Amino acid sequence: MAEDFRTLDGVDVKDKRALVRVDFNVPMENGAVTDDTRLEAALPTIRRLRDGGAKVILISHFDRPKGRRVPSMSLKPVVAPLGKLLGAPVAFANDCVGEVAEQAVAAMHDGDVLLLENLRFHAGEEADDPAFAEQLAALGDLYVDDAFSAAHRAHASTDAIARLLPAYAGEQMRRELEALDSALGNPKKPVLGIVGGSKVSTKLDLLHNLIVKLDRLAIGGGMANTFLAAQGWAVGASYCEPALGDTARGIMAFAESRHCELLLPVDIVVAERPEPGAAARVRDLGEIDPHERILDAGPQTVERLCAAMDASATLVWNGPLGVFEVPPFDRGTVAAARHAAELCKAGKLVAVAGGGDTVSALNAAHVAGDFTFVSTAGGAFLEWMEGKSLPGVEALRAGRA
Ligand code: ADP
Ligand code: MG
Repeated sequence: MAEDFRTLDGVDVKDKRALVRVDFNVPMENGAVTDDTRLEAALPTIRRLRDGGAKVILISHFDRPKGRRVPSMSLKPVVAPLGKLLGAPVAFANDCVGEVAEQAVAAMHDGDVLLLENLRFHAGEEADDPAFAEQLAALGDLYVDDAFSAAHRAHASTDAIARLLPAYAGEQMRRELEALDSALGNPKKPVLGIVGGSKVSTKLDLLHNLIVKLDRLAIGGGMANTFLAAQGWAVGASYCEPALGDTARGIMAFAESRHCELLLPVDIVVAERPEPGAAARVRDLGEIDPHERILDAGPQTVERLCAAMDASATLVWNGPLGVFEVPPFDRGTVAAARHAAELCKAGKLVAVAGGGDTVSALNAAHVAGDFTFVSTAGGAFLEWMEGKSLPGVEALRAGRA
């Protein structure tokens, strides 16, 4: 797969100014970075370029200043923790284009690292403005995109700039593309999908794309309730989208026509409210009082899902199976996640997962490290799972000008 994309392999970067698009949209509190994950993720590319003798110029967005200079949204607080992780000084320029940036770049020596101020202080960034992209491009000799999580947006620093400079995928981008390719692009078969979460309405494109690609698809979480209701089962006071009955039946028919086996719940865990420690009752389908809610997958459902994992070579997962934030309704998700992790560790399964809440659930179950890959890219991961082409990824395809 990697050969489909231009990477830094074999590229001589000595004395070159490498403009590197990273995602430093990190969690921050009172001007201090509270989670280093995204800084760590950028290190392999930065190190590789420094080792090759390049000048490393980092560009990123942070938060949503909407084209204005908002001091509380400065990237400056990233400098110290990044320098510490890297074990080398990181310089900072108060603007990402124009004289300030040009002078900072001109002062660089080979191996130096410079972080430029928030791209979104300029309206041209989100507008994918070619003139703004030209100002950025003037600062570099080559462009490296290491921000998969920003690749679903056609912005100047992910899209327009890739037409102005030789463009390459960074190390983190390459890892992410390879993992995604092993899950949906060219996966080992059979492939099992798990889609959970709350709403069918936000995951229609996802379901359609997965049905085309997968051998089996398990539907869990609140969205399974909509499918159960569409099949005529009582769902009590559960979260449900009754207006989507026809849509759900259409999805079931589509799956049948594409020979994708749908796995819907066969038992349920109900309670009156999702409260910590609430009395959770295991029930058969339809066995629910009008004031009760389905809050998790039942044990037989989880067992069947684990058996489906045993019979699969690849698993792709988005969305928890229950209201995992409120124990004991995390049980189904945790049990399924642990099983997938065991299979991965034993080399029997390639498991790729992503989505904001999915990542939280896997972290809470302490299994994220055992999965083949857990994407923290959020929206970009979901759009990729929906089969959409991502502007920031397309820009790096070999063969494109
Ligand atoms: P992700 O962020 O990984 O894409 P989603 O945002 O689609 O996942 O779904 C996560 C949400 O789904 C969680 O807040 C969880 O509480 C909710 N959820 C899961 N199962 C149920 C259920 N049975 N009823 C209501 N909400 C549910
Ligand atoms: Mg979510």
